[in-house]
Amino acid sequence: MITRRKTKEITVGNVKIGGDNKISVQSMTNVNPNDFETLKNQVAELKQAGCDIVRMAVADLKNVKAIAKLKELAAVDKNYDVPLVADIHFNYKLAIESAYAGIDKIRINPGNIGGDEKVKSVADVCMAKKIPIRIGVNGGSLEKSILEKYGSPIPEALAESALYNIKLLEKYDFTDIIVAIKSSDVDHMIKANLILSEMCEYPLHIGVTEAGTAHMGLLKNAVGIGSLLQRGIGDTIRVSLTADPVLEVYEGISILKALGLYDKSIDIISCPTCWRCKTNVIAAANEVEKKMILIEKNMKKNMKIKVAVMGCAVNGPGEAKEADIGISGGINEFLLFKHGEPAGKIPADKAVDILIEEVEKIVL
Ligand code: SF4
Repeated sequence: MITRRKTKEITVGNVKIGGDNKISVQSMTNVNPNDFETLKNQVAELKQAGCDIVRMAVADLKNVKAIAKLKELAAVDKNYDVPLVADIHFNYKLAIESAYAGIDKIRINPGNIGGDEKVKSVADVCMAKKIPIRIGVNGGSLEKSILEKYGSPIPEALAESALYNIKLLEKYDFTDIIVAIKSSDVDHMIKANLILSEMCEYPLHIGVTEAGTAHMGLLKNAVGIGSLLQRGIGDTIRVSLTADPVLEVYEGISILKALGLYDKSIDIISCPTCWRCKTNVIAAANEVEKKMILIEKNMKKNMKIKVAVMGCAVNGPGEAKEADIGISGGINEFLLFKHGEPAGKIPADKAVDILIEEVEKIVL
């Protein structure tokens, strides 16, 4: 059982981050916001995949118009209704305009928007409109003085930069803050967040940045995000991948599921197979996994169950005792079992279908 770090609760549109709220999954659009048709389709796809919060780069005033249009659309069609974050670099005016256009959160680094007056302007507007600010620190955003002090973006430098940026906002009584320290170095990312988690109560957005393509990128994020979540650190996550943003959402959800932190989850337990296995359990496990993803999407209630696909009836049920239900391979047949106890023999060619029906009875 993971005990989560106590953090301040921050509201982003209709999603709450921190406190006792579930860990939210984020991703970011990668299409031109001025091509509204494409943008809205990607936002809907991300929401459909299970994305709780969608970020988009806002590089000019034209992009700000897309925020207003998305918000108008979301008001009449819930397929597009997902909290939006404006990702802004350097330009405080874009932050202010995004706030007026209805954005739900702003991602900006107070330290690089050009001085106190500008920080104050953004903080004042966000405070008036109850829009939180996510401070996003990474190796490339370190303040010159901090970089000079530490020589390179080591974890201590990243954490100090985050605290510096937090103070810039707190100076204007702005405390509606979420903090992200990211690095493409997994070890640095973990250590920097560990340091910061001891020093502030703001919710943390965690992820490995510039992590790479789908395979290695996922592994780096699973190690980085997973290590922190297992210690109870992290309130919202983004699995950054050089891939379709929808994949980022699926993988984020998978990381949460792997740690038992996702509300609706069918966890597959399957054995590695050995010489005792006399049937194609690898194919069966893959088929079960694919079908369970579809069932999971239709689950109405929050529930976590474990479903096993094991190689032999001799050891399978015992090895997968923690599974609520499962099948174990025999010769031309499978044994159905529940909580480690046999529940009948079923023909091999119908085993997966029968297992699916049984799972549907439990979760739908
Ligand atoms: Fe081998 Fe059976 Fe264990 Fe699978 S369940 S690894 S087939 S002993």
